Amino acid sequence: MSLEKKYPIMEVFPSLQGEGRYSGVQAYFIRLAGCDVGCVWCDVKESWNAGDYKEVTVRDIVGGAIDSKIAMVVITGGEPCMYDLNPLTEELKSAGLRVHLETSGAYPIRGEFDWITLSPKKFKACLYESYGRADELKVVVANKHDLTWSQEQAEQVEESTLLYLQPEWSKKEKVTEMMLDFLKTEQGAVWSLSIQTHKYLGIR
Ligand code: SF4
Repeated sequence: MSLEKKYPIMEVFPSLQGEGRYSGVQAYFIRLAGCDVGCVWCDVKESWNAGDYKEVTVRDIVGGAIDSKIAMVVITGGEPCMYDLNPLTEELKSAGLRVHLETSGAYPIRGEFDWITLSPKKFKACLYESYGRADELKVVVANKHDLTWSQEQAEQVEESTLLYLQPEWSKKEKVTEMMLDFLKTEQGAVWSLSIQTHKYLGIR
């Protein structure tokens, strides 16, 4: 029955993963609609209202992913964990696809994933249980306090979790130098810089 389960889909598209460990790898993005995290600098505010979008069956979503012939799927949002992703991920995995997730961690992570990018936000607390699921932690930095906050976030994840600091796109000229200085410190040495390469390339 999971093939008939529906999710509100804002868009699906083939591209490159622009950020983090898998930067530069071809990916088929599935963007679920719906988010109540409320980041002030969110660049996909049009995703917030799930009611604005059509509900699509797992059958059609997975069919599109298979047709793309891309081996890696990234489920993103919005906040995709507002939904139980088990039906969708079960079928994607059955099709032999690698399944990645991008989440703020504010909702329980339900589904089977090969890679989880956890990007906690100050605007809605990340669940304690979400930290333990992170393969990579990505903290968006828009000001100096975000660097302090990033340390608190890093203390919550497993030692094996990769740590990425990412300049907030609209503030990058302002914060990048401060971030580079931080990376040179003892505390900062465990972090890497994540750059939104797709935005520099002008692709989505
Ligand atoms: S969690 Fe993501 S989609 Fe939701 S408001 Fe924040 S940046 Fe936007």
